Amino acid sequence: MKETSTTSDPLLETSHGTRFDAGSTLDSLIDAELPSLLATYMQLHAMPELSGQEEKTSALLAQEFRSLGYAVTEGIGKYEHHSWPGYGIVALLQNGAGPTVLVRADMDALPVEEKTGLPYASQLRGINRDGKEVAVMHACGHDVHVAVLLGTARLLARLKGAWRGSVVLIGQPGEEGGGGAQAMLNDGAYELCPQPDYALALHSTLRLEAGSIGYVPGNFMASFSELEVTVRGVGAHGSAPEFGKDPILMAAQLILALQSIVSREKSAFDPAVLTVGSVHGGTASNIIPEEVKLQLSIRTYDDRLRDRILASVERIARGVALTAGVPEDRAPVVTLKASHQANYNDPDLTERVARALKQALGDERVNRSEPVMVSEDFGSWGLGGRIPTCMFWLGGADPVQFRASQLTGVSLPSHHSPLFAPLPEPTIRCGVKAMSAAVLDLLAR
Ligand SMILES: [Zn+2]
Ligand SMILES: [Zn+2]
Repeated sequence: MKETSTTSDPLLETSHGTRFDAGSTLDSLIDAELPSLLATYMQLHAMPELSGQEEKTSALLAQEFRSLGYAVTEGIGKYEHHSWPGYGIVALLQNGAGPTVLVRADMDALPVEEKTGLPYASQLRGINRDGKEVAVMHACGHDVHVAVLLGTARLLARLKGAWRGSVVLIGQPGEEGGGGAQAMLNDGAYELCPQPDYALALHSTLRLEAGSIGYVPGNFMASFSELEVTVRGVGAHGSAPEFGKDPILMAAQLILALQSIVSREKSAFDPAVLTVGSVHGGTASNIIPEEVKLQLSIRTYDDRLRDRILASVERIARGVALTAGVPEDRAPVVTLKASHQANYNDPDLTERVARALKQALGDERVNRSEPVMVSEDFGSWGLGGRIPTCMFWLGGADPVQFRASQLTGVSLPSHHSPLFAPLPEPTIRCGVKAMSAAVLDLLAR
């Protein structure tokens, strides 16, 4: 920082046009904000809300954004399939002519019973989409994302002298299979702000040490499609299967046959995963039931491959029914329950963000990672490739546990585990610094 200003406030120096030293300026601002960000993080962790029910989290973010001077619109993203109001937030901070950067955090938690034993562990229970009471936990780290977005909002509001353009902050509901991003877009999220030139997000992970970042140019996370297959038969007495058509036997054949799609119907160079994750049918050992319900998830990077796999599932399900002699009016029903596209990290944007993060955090803390077949609906914000997007990993593992895990080969808890617990201080510090540095680079004066 040059000593040309008459004040020692680095923010005023930047607004007078002197050189902006992102690293040290961000550090001193984060030091000041960290105690309250950590308190908010622990509050969020203790009050997880299921997908589509993020009322309190959304209100907390909206109030903070407003107090920082952002123009806030609440209630975006009413769900097509549910009666819940949308709890999405679009917050806009305009600061002269320049590009627009979107930063998104997802807000929802999961039906998981927390077993971390942390003093701020969730004790909450909620009601899921089927009306059942379930334990609720932030087992995917979305509370970290919300706290980081809040910290980034504060820093960007304080550092207006160092950037120009517009910042759009998104508090997104319903990431966990709920299609919250698409719901917000369908509800006009992009009519509330200039269309972004870049869209950014991060996801916490225990696969990296707290205080470090992983980035993946190109294919990063797979697309996701959720199918429900109802295998319909004809009910009968268990002693006389010849009078019925057994959907349990058909479901068993179908499960095996579906695995031939990935192994036999596509190139080995084109990644895909098909998982049958749920099978429900029947009530007693001596009854041939009327139907069996299967739930499947399908992941690919390529949309055409995804469409081919979806068509294959339908074809094979019908083929199994045909082989069993099921009448046409009892043919299987295949329903697409949810889908969202892959996360493709625009290579130029990702390399640029990685350079900015290396500058802010140091080369050794920012490293390339490998693509994964897990899915995330952040990619929807890119409108099918029209807006370059970049999502990066934010390491959250306790360094001591991380090194022990490297030595023993026993991995730390994965996302959605009841033991998922990022180490708050270094994770949030690094997340706020990384995201702020990325935005400041994209909107540099
Ligand atoms: Zn998740
Ligand atoms: Zn997640």
